Amino acid sequence: MARTVVVTGSTSGIGLAVALGFAAEGASIVLNGFGTADEIAACIDKVKAAGAADVVHNPADMTKPAEIAAMIEEAASRFGSVDVLVNNAGIQYVEKIEDFPVEKWDAIIAINLSSAFHTIRAAVPHMKKAGTGRIINIASAHGLVASPFKSAYVAAKHGILGLTKTVALEVAEAGITVNAICPGYVLTPLVQRQIPDQAKTRGITEEQVINDVMLKAQPTKKFVTVEQVAALATFLASDVAAQITGTHQSIDGGWTAQ
Ligand code: NAD
Repeated sequence: MARTVVVTGSTSGIGLAVALGFAAEGASIVLNGFGTADEIAACIDKVKAAGAADVVHNPADMTKPAEIAAMIEEAASRFGSVDVLVNNAGIQYVEKIEDFPVEKWDAIIAINLSSAFHTIRAAVPHMKKAGTGRIINIASAHGLVASPFKSAYVAAKHGILGLTKTVALEVAEAGITVNAICPGYVLTPLVQRQIPDQAKTRGITEEQVINDVMLKAQPTKKFVTVEQVAALATFLASDVAAQITGTHQSIDGGWTAQ
């Protein structure tokens, strides 16, 4: 039977690529994330064309715990299970600490950290009942190291590594693994939007942001691709990864080796 895979924030970037990766394995996919009706319809078509057994979009807002719980319940009732949960939704905001807007701090902690608590809390009972499950949290190199002007993001990503390890220990005997993926810079809309902001905050050109700030941290001098992150996610969800749990997997061109 097709596995059911829920990917938060999967109407763009890494999340969409992860959904496409699992679709190629014939899974039933629950897409989530924002977009116009046309953009969401285009995502659904792409995921279907990639080979998904079935696709549904759930519009749950990752700042709203009740909507998050309802999304997991809908996935379980529609497809009979939640086999793989990928917590990917995330936003960024770049500002020095003394000017960091309080509402941006709250939104980043809610979307990048608390939403994963809410999805996991709702999904684990279904996974325990099935005796199997895979939880994959898309953290970041910023879960391991910091960069200036990203206080909320770095705090949330460090937090999700703690959540990953804790839940991994709690569910270790239940056939469920919990791991985090820590990408370096991946050229997605989230990163593209940061380029003008970083240029303004640092007083440099956009080209300097790419070469001297972003790729400066990445020894390979190349962006990670969304397909590379998706391949790591499908590997962590495979049978051969059953003994990998409570870990973070870096995919950062050597950034955190420094
Ligand atoms: P993106 O902006 O391309 O996509 C973000 C997705 O999250 C979109 O589908 C968006 O609609 C959704 N989203 C945002 N707010 C939401 C909310 N309140 N409720 C539901 N969905 C919401 O971003 P991306 O670069 O693909 O990032 C995905 C994840 O990967 C994030 O957690 C990000 O922190 C992480 N990450 C990205 C990079 C990178 O360089 N792009 C590096 C490391 C980690």
